[in-house]
Amino acid sequence: MVAEHAVWVYGEARDGRLTPSTRELISRAATLGSATVVLLGVRAEEAAENAGRHGTTAALVDPNPAYDQHLTTPAVEALCYLIRERRPHVLMFGASYHGRDVASRLAARLDCGIIANATEIERSGEDYRVTAPWGERTIATCELTFPGVRLVLFRSKAFSAEEKPSRCEVEEFQAPLSAEAKAVRIVETAEEESGGPSLSDAGVVVSGGRGLGDAESFRKVEELAQLLGGAVGASRGAVDAGWRPAADLVGQSGTTVKPSVYIACGISGAVQHMTGMKNAKVIVAINRDPDAPIFRSADLGIIGDVNKILPQLIEEVRRRKEW
Ligand SMILES: Cc1cc2nc3c(=O)[nH]c(=O)nc-3n(C[C@H](O)[C@H](O)[C@H](O)COP(=O)(O)OP(=O)(O)OC[C@H]3O[C@@H](n4cnc5c(N)ncnc54)[C@H](O)[C@@H]3O)c2cc1C
Repeated sequence: MVAEHAVWVYGEARDGRLTPSTRELISRAATLGSATVVLLGVRAEEAAENAGRHGTTAALVDPNPAYDQHLTTPAVEALCYLIRERRPHVLMFGASYHGRDVASRLAARLDCGIIANATEIERSGEDYRVTAPWGERTIATCELTFPGVRLVLFRSKAFSAEEKPSRCEVEEFQAPLSAEAKAVRIVETAEEESGGPSLSDAGVVVSGGRGLGDAESFRKVEELAQLLGGAVGASRGAVDAGWRPAADLVGQSGTTVKPSVYIACGISGAVQHMTGMKNAKVIVAINRDPDAPIFRSADLGIIGDVNKILPQLIEEVRRRKEW
C-alpha cells in the first residue's frame, strides 16, 4: 500500500515511455518526500519500470485499455477514486494539452481550486509553497495551507529530469469507471508532421515577433531555424497577427524553452515572453530599438532592421556550413 499524504505526479507516457515532462516532475517530487506516480493505460506498467530512475518510490498503475481508447473522462474518474481512497497532499501535472485537460476537469469534479503555470514547489513544514505567474506582471509564491489535495499544473522545463535510481514499488489498481466515462471513443489519431525538433526540446530556437512586419518575413526565421537544426518559435505579437500557429508561442501562455541558443528576431522582450525563454544558455536578440527590454537579458545584441540582418545571417551560416 502506497503511503498516504505523499506527493503524487500524474504520469504521461508514450509507447510505454515516460514523457520528458513526467520525468522532470517526478524528479522534483522525489525531493519533497515520498513520490508516487500514477500511470494509466495498457503500457502503464512498462512506463512505471523507468520511474524509479528518477527517485520515485511508488507507482500506481491501472492497465485498463479504456484510458487509451476514450477521451479524458476515464483518467479523471480514476484520479477522483484514488484521491478519495488515499488522500495525497499534492498532485502534480505537466502542462501538456492532456495534462491541462485532466487537471481542470478533476478540479471541477472535486470542487477545488487549481494552480496553473507553476514554476516551483517547495516543502514548508507540513505545507507546500508554489511559485506561479500572477496577473500581468507579478510572479507570486503562495503557501498552500488548505486541507485536501492541492492540484498544481507545472510549466514544462520548470525542473530538470535528474537520474536518481531508487526502488520503485509498483502497485496495480482497478478504478471503477462509469459507462459515461466511455461515452467518447477515440476513432483515429494523427501525428502532425514536423521536419525538425519539437519546440520544447530543440537545442536552437529561432523566434520571430511583430518586428518582422508580416507573415512572409517569417520565412527567413524558418530558414535560419532549419539551417541551424532548430525549431521555430513566436511571440504573442506574431501569433496574434496570424503569422504563426498558437503551438509556436513561447512564453507564459505558451511553451517554455531551454535551448543552448535562443535567437529573438523583432521581439520586444515583454515579461510574459521572457518567462518562457530566459533560461536559454545564450540569448541573441535582433531589434532596431536599442532600448528594447530584450537587450537587458541578451548575451548578444544586434541593433538594426531584422529584415536586413536575417538574410545576412542566413548567408553567413550557409557559407560556414559549406566549408
Ligand atoms: C496574461 C498575458 C499573457 C501573455 N503571454 C505571452 C506569451 O506567452 N508570450 C508572448 O510572447 N507574449 C505574451 N503576452 C504578450 C506580451 O505582453 C507582449 O505583448 C508580446 O510578447 C509582444 O510581442 P512582440 O515582442 O512580438 O511585439 P511588440 O511588443 O510589438 O515588439 C515588437 C518589437 O520589434 C521591434 N521591431 C519593429 N520593427 C523592427 C524591425 N524592422 N527590425 C527589428 N526590430 C523591429 C520593435 O522595436 C519592438 O521591440 C502576454 C500578455 C498577457 C497580458
